[in-house]
Amino acid sequence: MSEPIYLRVAVPVPVRSLFDYLPPPGVDHRALVPGIRVLVPFGSGRRCGVLVEVSNRAAGEGGVLKPALRLLDHEPLLPAGDLDLLRWAADYYQHPVGDVVTAALPARLRQGREPLDDIRSGWRVTGTGKAVDPTTLSRAPRQATLLALLQGEAGGLTLEELRERGGDSRSALRALQQKGWVERCLVEPRPRPLPERSPAPTLGREQKQALDAIGGRLGRFAAILLEGVTGSGKTEVYLGAVEQVLERGRQVLVLVPEIGLTPQLVGRFQRRLRAPVVLLHSGLSDGERERAWQQARRGTARVVIGTRSAVFVPLPELGLVIVDEEHDLSLKQQEGFRYSARDVAVMRARRCGCPVVLGSATPSLESLRNALDGRYLHRRLTRRAGGAAQPRMDLLDIRSVRLDAGVSPALLRLVGETLDAGDQVLLFLNRRGYAPILTCFDCGWVARCRRCDAHMTLHWKSRRLWCHHCGSQRPLERTCPDCGGAGLHPLGQGTERLEEMLRGRFPDAGLVRVDRDSTQRRGSMERLLEEIRAGRHRLLVGTQMLAKGHHFPDVTLVGILDVDQGLFGADFRAGERMAQMVTQVAGRAGRAAKPGRVVIQTRHPDHPLMQDLVRQGYDAFARAALAERRAACLPPYSHQVLLRAESVRPEQPVGFLEQAVEMARRHAGPEVGFWGPVPAPMERRAGRYRAHLLLQADRRQPLQQLLAAWIPELAATRLARRVRWSIDVDPQEMF
Ligand code: ADP
Ligand code: ZN
Ligand code: ZN
Repeated sequence: MSEPIYLRVAVPVPVRSLFDYLPPPGVDHRALVPGIRVLVPFGSGRRCGVLVEVSNRAAGEGGVLKPALRLLDHEPLLPAGDLDLLRWAADYYQHPVGDVVTAALPARLRQGREPLDDIRSGWRVTGTGKAVDPTTLSRAPRQATLLALLQGEAGGLTLEELRERGGDSRSALRALQQKGWVERCLVEPRPRPLPERSPAPTLGREQKQALDAIGGRLGRFAAILLEGVTGSGKTEVYLGAVEQVLERGRQVLVLVPEIGLTPQLVGRFQRRLRAPVVLLHSGLSDGERERAWQQARRGTARVVIGTRSAVFVPLPELGLVIVDEEHDLSLKQQEGFRYSARDVAVMRARRCGCPVVLGSATPSLESLRNALDGRYLHRRLTRRAGGAAQPRMDLLDIRSVRLDAGVSPALLRLVGETLDAGDQVLLFLNRRGYAPILTCFDCGWVARCRRCDAHMTLHWKSRRLWCHHCGSQRPLERTCPDCGGAGLHPLGQGTERLEEMLRGRFPDAGLVRVDRDSTQRRGSMERLLEEIRAGRHRLLVGTQMLAKGHHFPDVTLVGILDVDQGLFGADFRAGERMAQMVTQVAGRAGRAAKPGRVVIQTRHPDHPLMQDLVRQGYDAFARAALAERRAACLPPYSHQVLLRAESVRPEQPVGFLEQAVEMARRHAGPEVGFWGPVPAPMERRAGRYRAHLLLQADRRQPLQQLLAAWIPELAATRLARRVRWSIDVDPQEMF
């Protein structure tokens, strides 16, 4: 008789272990390949899990194991190396392995459904439609565009392809369908027509050195920090490296913080490379995402550009990983499975033996320390490409200055002069809405969120009060709810209020506001960016959405209205974030032939951090900040883990955490320090009371050892089932 065989299966349930099953009856054991999906009985129902290991010993003891019901795939969806990476990540970040592994699959596959085949639904012209001259549709330009596109492609186009080519209007399609000129059809996949190639510029000396450093390390692990000032041509270095990797027949993974913010990057990759590039981000439909994922897995896609979760996409021939804007907070997932896509990317490159490039104008202090200590190779681009100068930065002291919607008369004068000269101006304020506070001048009432310890933000256009912490909303009161008086007034300003003031003063500047409220509709961000580049708007007002990655050649003045909260934030990273933000926003100025100027309003012009940043740049700031962190034993000179807890009952979170500390002390060596439990800075949020416990050690290892012993024990306690709690390894935010 042959050995018994056990299947170890990752099942999407919040339990920190794999589950053992027997093989489905009658299944050929050669079909039991890790990485395939299996349908298993679970509780009273069934779940779709992923086979992770085949073993001849059961992990748990006793009990009668049930057989799995059915294998769902013939070939592994997750190859062995990728499965290992997922298991490592589940361990390192202390997140249930079943959740981590199954979340790496596209939604439909996770639900146990059949993979999509490659025939896609789309649209094509009818016989009558073929004969229609699109120019006769001049009163309906969208229909004309669509008709022309479809006439050019007899086999039809999918909605996705229509969108890429600039004709993604369902209403126009329906109108054409009613006329009988287009119809639905199935579209065969075909190689994409590659767009016209744009030639590469001749690289500058520093760019060449950076490229050589990467090119010389293909085929083995190396981490390279590419620290290049904004506009220094980092993307050109990436492209050069990608070309070399593609020539060697390998795939490339490019991680970017937010795809919506980097359409230009994607366009540049597609125009430059003679290879299929696919995108992976949350804006795709489930079907689109699954197709892109499958193309990556099968190797038909050679370059994958994606947001953080793309770090787990299967790539059988991975040869290079690039993390653009490696400092960006959105590379860290802040809920559920809390992982850093940057750190996982480095681990992935190490495991598969290929280089990883971390690029930024404002590197995180973590990466900078690794570079300065020699663990990462450090290449710098110190000058802007193509001869553009670095912008000049000035602090504008606004103590005892009368501001109008947050703007000083001196800055307003500069705005006027710049607009008169025909250039573009960008004003940056990282707060949306009209005003952060609504108060009654008669009795002192302030609009507060009923579910959080926070003020409601006034949104004037929609006449609503909004809590930016929990999302609750209510209509704006006309009179004070406390005294009934008419003395309600907004205090402080957000982008809406700034917009209102500036429209009044500069009515002809074509002002545009770019923030989350003004770009909610799909595609609206791209449209706004297009209009800005075309010169339709000369006055740009925005939040950090405007700060990242964009290239606006005609912006010569950047005004930063409110940086002071970054200087005194409760979080020890507040200064780093402020400096990154200021440098990134400033980097939008004067990127082309015209020199740029940056004006930063502050009430603390003598603050040493501000002085370092403005006089000597991010580089000097970051080195000074690292010295401070070292002296204070803060990350990156130590490692942290944050245990958060929340509950509707005020006493429970701290109670749970106290029990947790006690338990942890029994497992912890002397190297691990504990801070707390303490209530979170904003104790009540969305109706729950929150508290946390911070753990810190000089090395990762004692923390990891502690977690491995402590968390399973903690999870089994009674209180652990009453409060909501989570563990955050290498936390980026302290609340
Ligand atoms: P970064 O990614 O560092 O912000 P980019 O790669 O976007 O910089 O380069 C900024 C601008 O300079 C782009 O318009 C790019 O085409 C141009 N550029 C980059 N490298 C060169 C070069 N070697 N010669 C001429 N222009 C360049
Ligand atoms: Zn009142
Ligand atoms: Zn709230």
